[in-house]
Amino acid sequence: MDLRQKSLLRKLPGVDHVLELWDRTQPVKDVPRAVLVRSIRTTLDRLRTRILAGDELPDETVFGDNLLIHLAAQAVNKSMEFNLKRVVNATGVVVHTNLGRSLLPESVARHVAEISSRYSNLEFDLEKGARGSRYSCVEEILCEISGAEAAMVVNNNAGAVFLSLETLARGKEVIVSRGELVEIGGSFRIPDVMARSGARLVEIGTTNRTHLPDYEGAIRDETALLLKVHTSNYSMVGFTAEVSLKNLVALGATYHLPVMKDLGSGNFVDFSKYGIMNEPTVQETVAAGADVVTFSGDKMLGGPQAGIIVGRKDAVERIKKNPINRALRIDKMTLAALEATLHLYRDESRAISAIPTLRMLTLPPKIIANRAKRLLNRLRKLGDSRLEAIIINASSRVGGGALPLQELPTRCVAVRIKGLSANRIDRIMREATPSIVGRIEDDLFVMDLRTVQDEEIAMIVSTLKEILAEA
Ligand SMILES: *Cc1c(COP(=O)(O)O)cnc(C)c1O
Repeated sequence: MDLRQKSLLRKLPGVDHVLELWDRTQPVKDVPRAVLVRSIRTTLDRLRTRILAGDELPDETVFGDNLLIHLAAQAVNKSMEFNLKRVVNATGVVVHTNLGRSLLPESVARHVAEISSRYSNLEFDLEKGARGSRYSCVEEILCEISGAEAAMVVNNNAGAVFLSLETLARGKEVIVSRGELVEIGGSFRIPDVMARSGARLVEIGTTNRTHLPDYEGAIRDETALLLKVHTSNYSMVGFTAEVSLKNLVALGATYHLPVMKDLGSGNFVDFSKYGIMNEPTVQETVAAGADVVTFSGDKMLGGPQAGIIVGRKDAVERIKKNPINRALRIDKMTLAALEATLHLYRDESRAISAIPTLRMLTLPPKIIANRAKRLLNRLRKLGDSRLEAIIINASSRVGGGALPLQELPTRCVAVRIKGLSANRIDRIMREATPSIVGRIEDDLFVMDLRTVQDEEIAMIVSTLKEILAEA
């Protein structure tokens, strides 16, 4: 530490001094004392760190009252903000796990607000006037839509897979193809979940090819379950073979073994009608005879985070009775959101137009192109020659670890600002309110309009305008 640093450290005031200043000027009203003290402490700590790092600080003004109050007010404002906040998703990844996966339809969000801010019949049977089941509100409609005999829901699909394995195969063996031993991300790996559930994994086949005799040859007295896992986030092409669910169900019937399918991102809509790759629907999977089918509520279904289990009554009833079920219990806000989302699925065209995930996945290219043009025109109207904006063709992604090979043709607006790097623009956009998340490509900041909502165009324009004003 040199002399200058020592002298600066000595000049750094104490918390009490800044508190006194604050009380005199009150730049932000009604700040809880504890928040204020913590913010001031943080502010002074930061200054101390900068001094120790040898950062350039203009000597006379460093600890002037105005500066101290300004920095403290910034820290106070920051700590009064919520950490979890709205983001404009300009990435073009529709089911973006880092950005909250699926958006609830407005009508669904309203139902959640009503149910969560009032008492409800969550576990009360209004007809009988007695205790009821927490899940009854969604079981029937899940059976109605999927065609299954029974249904239940837990916290998420990882929980659904774990609970199903723990119930049906703890201490026993589960046969899975090597090609389906996937890692989903966020450290969800089929072999690890299997080990935690107490079931023993029996791997069969090879990475690229698995045949029916591979399954049959592995069946022993200890076998409790035949499992198929959707490979979701990766795809095998070339010399590959897998056993169809139908054939596996037939094998299971011969040996009196239940068959389970982890669908990952379950969907009730046949997306091939909308130009998206053919994915087996939940209905088809149930119809193929699987005893247990598990899938997420917030991937391509477009609802709240949930793990949905549908299938044959005996298997689902056993899973319901597992005491671990309680630890994976779904909350009333989620149940309200799930029931309201499922209601929309009774009419497919309504589901497509009302559920944001489905709407964005099936958005006609013309609508995206118009949206891009609108953004471009509004940026040109700013009339700032430092701002360069163009429209580029690109591909959006489904996301959520679903359909990795699916390309969704889209339009993006790419911007460049003279004197600012794309990295810098990216950072400012990210830290704006609301935060705007795009991507960088060829030193351009790129925004995919597929996942930008109409009313968010104005937000993008005003943030870029602010950047120009300050640049
Ligand atoms: C996403 C996924 C999971 C985990 O689902 P969550 O709802 O995120 O817990 C499990 N299995 C497969 C195949 C998946 O794609």
